[in-house]
Amino acid sequence: MAGKRVVNCPQCGASVAWGPESPYRPFCSERCRQIDLGAWANEEYKVPGHASPEDFADPALIPPTPRE
Ligand SMILES: [Zn+2]
Repeated sequence: MAGKRVVNCPQCGASVAWGPESPYRPFCSERCRQIDLGAWANEEYKVPGHASPEDFADPALIPPTPRE
């Protein structure tokens, strides 16, 4: 098992040495790491299950108004 382990940057696919010389591993650079983090943050907004204002505007959820 000689040699250094090399991984591919998940963002751009560049070869990244798995060692102290690659502080942003598995990413090749801080830029790629930031891009990936941003992608995850955007995914958060796509997760279903959160109530949206439209849900509260559903007429079926509004109780009928009593008439005099
Ligand atoms: Zn990269």
